[in-house]
Amino acid sequence: MRLKKDVIIIGAGAAGMMCAMEAGKRGRSVLLLDHATKLAEKIRISGGGRCNFTNRHTTPANFLSHNPHFCRSALARFTPQHFTALVERHGIRYHEKKLGQLFCDGSSQQIIDMLRRECNQAKVQWQMPCRVTNINRPSARGVGFMLETDVAEFETESLVIATGGLSIPQIGSSSLGYRIAEQFGISVTPLRAGLVPLIFARDQLAQLSELPGVALDAEVSCNTGRFRENLLVTHRGLSGPATLQISSYWKPGSPIHINLLPGLDAKAWLLEQRRSRALLSNVLAQHLPRRFAKAWIDSIKGEQDVAMHHYDDHSLNKIAAQLHDWQIKPEGTAGYKKAEVTLGGVDTRELSSRTMEVRKVPGLFFIGEVVDVTGHLGGFNFQWAWASGHAAGQFA
Ligand SMILES: Cc1cc2nc3c(=O)[nH]c(=O)nc-3n(C[C@H](O)[C@H](O)[C@H](O)COP(=O)(O)OP(=O)(O)OC[C@H]3O[C@@H](n4cnc5c(N)ncnc54)[C@H](O)[C@@H]3O)c2cc1C
Repeated sequence: MRLKKDVIIIGAGAAGMMCAMEAGKRGRSVLLLDHATKLAEKIRISGGGRCNFTNRHTTPANFLSHNPHFCRSALARFTPQHFTALVERHGIRYHEKKLGQLFCDGSSQQIIDMLRRECNQAKVQWQMPCRVTNINRPSARGVGFMLETDVAEFETESLVIATGGLSIPQIGSSSLGYRIAEQFGISVTPLRAGLVPLIFARDQLAQLSELPGVALDAEVSCNTGRFRENLLVTHRGLSGPATLQISSYWKPGSPIHINLLPGLDAKAWLLEQRRSRALLSNVLAQHLPRRFAKAWIDSIKGEQDVAMHHYDDHSLNKIAAQLHDWQIKPEGTAGYKKAEVTLGGVDTRELSSRTMEVRKVPGLFFIGEVVDVTGHLGGFNFQWAWASGHAAGQFA
């Protein structure tokens, strides 16, 4: 038997549920299917279990894409205020942690329950777990889609792909969305792990071997990205918000530049203390974690940790320059197993920015992380999932 629906959405994550409830509210019959047994695991583990569900300061500049303007329209029509109003209507308490990042006071499960309730009110039907085995265009006119699954066969006018990215395969990410794009001749921009810890080569790790767990406030830059946040030394390299942010801008072979003393004129500060009998590491420890200061000096070629009055101006200038621009060439990233997002995806030139519909395949939509729009850390990725899901939900 073949079941007919107006809209079928593959992927019951953040974008898929938002799209389903919006299409359902318009009176469309909607089926939301997912291969997972547990609903919306990415939302559940997000924000350390509290879901950083949006960012008050969202602008298109918070997103990476081969077409930076693509996200504008959807973001303008469904804003952080719209999502926050929904959260408030459901009585979910939340707080701003920092930099506009909004988190649940309780747990991310509240966001999942809210979306599930909204979908149920909009009479959305669920099918999970459900594995899609084949998709094709049933009619000679090329309208609508036929889906073969391990549960039943389905027919639909509108097919929305909301299968997310490749990160955290342990909880059910898959490449299905990209494969569907390929099947319909839709281009996909190169994929890579983003918002991910950076890994160092063995010799660099040896210099930092005493430091795992040390955190510091730093400004990190690479290519066109620049972020000031916490940097965390790990036993494999660097992590923490500043590292995750810059990882999305890093390309193999590029160095990352770390300003260890942002907001301070290191040269003037060190020169003021050049007659001091204190060790350089003790002076640096006024602004840096002591353990880090010592290891950092040892890592600089030709420098030793001696009393300040032993340094000449030339050496202090050199040290100051390195404090403001410590360069490291990571060997790689920790990969999709540890990444929060996948950079790249369905090429936005293939999609309408108003509807998320594929221009050359009417009735086919792509939303959320599977699209080549990736947010910075801080609630932006969910805001894109809500906004793109909302946009498609008005037209699917
Ligand atoms: C550890 C972690 C923490 C994060 N924290 C935050 C945060 O606090 N704030 C933030 O903004 N972003 C965060 N993110 C990113 C955010 O979770 C994603 O960008 C967002 O979930 C993307 O929404 P989506 O609906 O496109 O995809 P997902 O939410 O990943 O949903 C995709 C759905 O598709 C289903 N699916 C996949 N393949 C198939 C298939 N073959 N058949 C059927 N169904 C399939 C999956 O089971 C899943 O339910 C975090 C990510 C991770 C990994």
